[in-house]
Amino acid sequence: MSCEIDIAGLVKRFGGNTVLNGIDLCLKPGERVAIIGPSGTGKSTLLRCLNFLDPPDEGRITIGDLSVDAARVSKADMLALRRRTGFVFQNYALFANKTARDNIMEGLTTVRNWPKPRAEERAREILQQIGLGDRGDSYPSALSGGQQQRVGIGRAMALDAELMLFDEPTSALDPEWVGEVLDLIRRIADGRQTMLIVTHEMQFAREIADRIVFMEGGRIVEQGPPAQIFGNAQDERTRAFLRRVG
Ligand code: ADP
Ligand code: MG
Repeated sequence: MSCEIDIAGLVKRFGGNTVLNGIDLCLKPGERVAIIGPSGTGKSTLLRCLNFLDPPDEGRITIGDLSVDAARVSKADMLALRRRTGFVFQNYALFANKTARDNIMEGLTTVRNWPKPRAEERAREILQQIGLGDRGDSYPSALSGGQQQRVGIGRAMALDAELMLFDEPTSALDPEWVGEVLDLIRRIADGRQTMLIVTHEMQFAREIADRIVFMEGGRIVEQGPPAQIFGNAQDERTRAFLRRVG
């Protein structure tokens, strides 16, 4: 099996607290993987370690032809890895003092060093794709929660990253905005974007994911196709979790 994304032996400690305890995960090109599990179990930390928002302590992360050893990573490799991922945050994490357009352009002009006109053109396309073609000049405070998160997703889409990481992208939203954000993610998934999505929307995970990964206590407990995990989980911890959230 060829892994486009290969995570091997990932360990992360905060002080004496081992939050990720040896995570191994291989994603094939175009594979969409949903991560589920109780809160405090290391799901966000896993995503954050993959682009070194939190530097992992041990393990190896490979994205395409770039392979990085966490224990001896150079600044250049870290930035190169970060360039290959797009991150969508639970709380949008938009710049409040920048317009929707500038938020989308930010990564292109800074991380990618694109000239401004090219980044503007890309932002225009993205604003259309996220259904905000006429809101490019709006500041986040003038947008609904759903619109803000669509900008957050647009910012990640603009990067054309090999791997998109979504960390509970709808859990900070008022219920009325959840649908439009899930619709946008569904479209991205339909395009066979390789993605890891942490979500508590079980129905959604079942619908868009090729594979469900259940995590608990900093480890992957069980993984498999949605029908298997939701219909016939083997591990009692998985079944207990699904009973609680279902
Ligand atoms: P999840 O996303 O599954 O809810 P997290 O990855 O956010 O879990 O957190 C896993 C554990 O790591 C929790 O016990 C949390 O308190 C701890 N943790 C997360 N980030 C930090 C941090 N920056 N410093 C110290 N502990 C942290
Ligand atoms: Mg989390």
